[in-house]
Amino acid sequence: MGRDQAALEDVLRHLRPARARIDLDRLASNYGALQRLVPVPVMPVVKADAYGHGALPVARRLLAAGAPLLAVAYVEEAVALREEGISVPIVVLAAYGPGQERVLRQHDLTPVVSTPRTLEGVLTPSREGKRPLKVHLKIDTGMSRLGFDRDAFLAAAQRLVQASGVELEGVMTHLASADEDRDVTGRQLDRFDDAVAALATRGIRPRYVHACNSAGLAQRRETHTLVRPGLLVYGIRPRPLSPEVDVRPVMTVSADIALIKTIPEGTPVSYGGRWVAPRPSRIGTVPMGYADGVPRTEAMRDQGALVVRGRRVPVRGTVCMDLTMVDLTERPEVAEGDEAVLVGDDPDAWQVADWAGTNAWEVVTRIGPRVPRVYVEEGRVTGVQSPFVRA
Ligand SMILES: *Cc1c(COP(=O)(O)O)cnc(C)c1O
Repeated sequence: MGRDQAALEDVLRHLRPARARIDLDRLASNYGALQRLVPVPVMPVVKADAYGHGALPVARRLLAAGAPLLAVAYVEEAVALREEGISVPIVVLAAYGPGQERVLRQHDLTPVVSTPRTLEGVLTPSREGKRPLKVHLKIDTGMSRLGFDRDAFLAAAQRLVQASGVELEGVMTHLASADEDRDVTGRQLDRFDDAVAALATRGIRPRYVHACNSAGLAQRRETHTLVRPGLLVYGIRPRPLSPEVDVRPVMTVSADIALIKTIPEGTPVSYGGRWVAPRPSRIGTVPMGYADGVPRTEAMRDQGALVVRGRRVPVRGTVCMDLTMVDLTERPEVAEGDEAVLVGDDPDAWQVADWAGTNAWEVVTRIGPRVPRVYVEEGRVTGVQSPFVRA
C-alpha cells in the first residue's frame, strides 16, 4: 500500500494477467449500509483472509469506515493483524486450543469461550498481560457445534464474573439456519434471550450480547448490543433469507484470455476430451484454473460460463488446474488479452456456487493465494498482495 501507480503496475507485470480486484470503496459503502441498518455496533468478520479478500487491507479499510472492533475465527489470524499494528479489539470466534491463553493475553485478544477446557484455561490465574483477559461466553442454542448448554452456560458465566484476571465482556450464540428458516432462528433467539435474562436476574449484564451473522440481521432482537456479519460486508446477500440492505460485491476475479484458436468440428477440448466441438469453434484459453478457485465440477463444465465484454461465454471441457477454456464462436469481436470474469457482479458468487454445488461463502474463500489481490480505491490501484511479490 501507499506505493505509486507505476510501481504497482510494475509489480503486476511479474504476475500472469489474472487478479482478484478488491474494490475498497464498495467495502466501505457496504459497511456503512450495514451500520445504518442496525442501531448497535457492527463487528465485521474478517476470518479466512477476509473471506478471500485479504485480511489486512480489508481490516484497515473497515476500521477507517468506523468499525469499532473486528472478528476472526482463529488465534493466528488475530495475531497476524496485531503484528501489522491493528489495535482495536479482536474477537476470536472459533475454538482455540487449551494452552493458547498466554498468546491471547500477550496480544490482548478477546476469545470466545465455548468449551469446558478453554473455560478452565481462562480461569487459571496468569501473570501474562497487564489487563484482565476479556472473554465472550458462548451458549449453544441449536447449532450443536461449539458452546455450552444452558445450565453449563449460566454456571460458567457465574464463575467468570467471580474470577480475577478475566472479564466477561460478552455473551453470544450462533444461528444455524438464519438464511433458511425464520422459525428455527426465532426459537434459537428465544433460547438466547431467555439465557441472557437468566443472567440478568443473577446480576450479570455483559456489555456485548450478540447472535446475528449476515442472515440473522433480518431477525435481530432488542436484547442484542452487537452484530457480526461477514458475507454482507463483502457485498454478497445470503440466500434465500437476507435483510434488506444495499450492498455490492467487493471482489471481481478475472484473467485475460491468453490464446484464441479455431478448431474443426469433432475436435475434443481439454483433459479426457469430454467436450467435442459440434461445429468449427473458436476456443479461448483463460489463465486461471481450479488451483485458483475455478470449480472443477461437471456443472461448471456443462453449464458454467465466464463473462467477457459484458456477456457470458460458455466453459468448454474440463477445468484444468491452471487453465479454463471458453467458447467464443459466437463472439468474433473478442480478442486475445480480453478480460474473462469468473466471479463478481456477473456471474455473481451465487451463480458460481450453483455450478460448483456449494454456497457463496465457499466460492469466495476458495479463490487461491496464487491469484493476486489488487486493491482499488477511487478507480486507482492502491495495493497488490501476492505471495510472489513484495508490494
Ligand atoms: C463466520 C461467522 C459469522 C459471519 O457469518 P456470515 O454468514 O458470513 O455473516 C458470524 N458468527 C460466527 C460465529 C461465525 O463463525
